[in-house]
Amino acid sequence: SIMPATLSAISNGAKNGLLFKGGVHLENIGSMKAIALDKTGTLTQGKPEVTDFIVRDGMDDISVLTTWASIESQSTHPLAQAITKFALDKGIVTTPIPNMKDVPGWGIEATVGSKKWKVGKPSFVGTEASKEFHDGISSILADQGKTVVFAADDEGIIAVAALRDQVRLEAKEAITLLRESGVYTIMLTGDNERTAKVIADDAGVDHYIAECLPETKVTHLKELLSKYGNVGMVGDGINDAPALATATTGIAMGEGTDVALETADVVLMKNELARINYAIQLSRKMNRIVK
Ligand code: ADP
Ligand code: MG
Repeated sequence: SIMPATLSAISNGAKNGLLFKGGVHLENIGSMKAIALDKTGTLTQGKPEVTDFIVRDGMDDISVLTTWASIESQSTHPLAQAITKFALDKGIVTTPIPNMKDVPGWGIEATVGSKKWKVGKPSFVGTEASKEFHDGISSILADQGKTVVFAADDEGIIAVAALRDQVRLEAKEAITLLRESGVYTIMLTGDNERTAKVIADDAGVDHYIAECLPETKVTHLKELLSKYGNVGMVGDGINDAPALATATTGIAMGEGTDVALETADVVLMKNELARINYAIQLSRKMNRIVK
């Protein structure tokens, strides 16, 4: 049976923007030793905007952007939506491209006319011609904390887009509070090393791991669990669901995807990361009363 102190703490949480899907999660969270946090949509606002758009010499900006946005317009990925919006804002009309294939964690493939397009991270579009972009422009953009996305066809790189997603205003404070509570913080992201480093520094996390695929996020969680015993995970995306399920306590952002909300044990109803520390304090206080 559920203890009165647990009930009162759960209702206390609810008043403070925390939804606990059971007393056991409230009990566990106070002894959390480490917490993994997703980058996009969790530490950042999850609303990337295109800041740079660079097209290969000799190609027409508008026609390249029209094709690229037409491909992205069929994906729900935040980067895809941002690129689509960038084109729409320029008055471009997109047309659905048949046979497009979403490859989670990597990008999108589509056949346009007689050409096969790939859009996504450099290792996904993977062409030798990416050298100049990859080593030059893209590293400058990534060092500015921007996510760099490439478009290529059979002949090589066609264009590069850079997108910036702001770190949530309260992220740094939330991380500081977790550190004061003795919790080690690790950012996990599918983004590249350079971009990840800038965002990790901004948010002030203890450690970060870049280039994660959804299944590598799970592997990292299992490693953390064997090292720390009690580990939390905060995320918002479809990609985060397997890791949320693996953690001792899975925590979803309230504005996250349905899958994340369903999988998580705790929901941050107002998307406030600092509420995690509040939950820890509430749990510690309750466990003192119950025991
Ligand atoms: P994160 O873990 O940061 O939320 P994802 O795992 O969703 O990132 O994606 C990792 C990387 O794959 C992105 O940074 C981007 O380079 C590429 N990517 C994935 N999906 C798309 C897409 N629809 N359009 C463009 N690039 C994409
Ligand atoms: Mg995310």
